[in-house]
Amino acid sequence: MTNENSNCIFCKIAKGEIPSVKIWEDEKVLAFLDIQPINPGHILVIPKKHAELVIDLDDETLSCIIKVLKVLNKKVRQSAIKCEGINLFLADGESAGQEVFHVHFHLIPRYKNDGFGFKFPKDYHKKPSTEELNKIAKKIIGK
Ligand code: 5GP
Ligand code: ZN
Repeated sequence: MTNENSNCIFCKIAKGEIPSVKIWEDEKVLAFLDIQPINPGHILVIPKKHAELVIDLDDETLSCIIKVLKVLNKKVRQSAIKCEGINLFLADGESAGQEVFHVHFHLIPRYKNDGFGFKFPKDYHKKPSTEELNKIAKKIIGK
């Protein structure tokens, strides 16, 4: 992990080399409006220093980001945007939908029937047994 990546669009935004509509800025965190919002008020919250994945980010910076997400969640809810709900979303890796490889949380104001949603895999309706869930848990925690 490096502190900045010269090819990274969000590093350029963090340094002010590319303009953005800022919503929040402090020593470690920047929040700005997404250029292609799912709904008005769609915000991206990023660490100022470059990190590709969540595991590349130090705990203190991640904590600061989470705190900013909470503050902005409240601000958006209390604002004239009048959203009915909020999605906090992070794509961690290309297969998870990450397109910009600098950690960013999406804060997306939501409304009933706004047309946005997740697509589920075809076998999603088949719930795994408790035994299968236990096997998966063992794979993750290694016991
Ligand atoms: P991802 O798919 O990586 O989770 O999301 C990347 C997001 O960054 C997209 O929602 C996209 O619209 C946004 N984005 C990409 N380039 C820019 C930019 O130059 N400025 C801003 N404000 N948002 C951007
Ligand atoms: Zn970057």
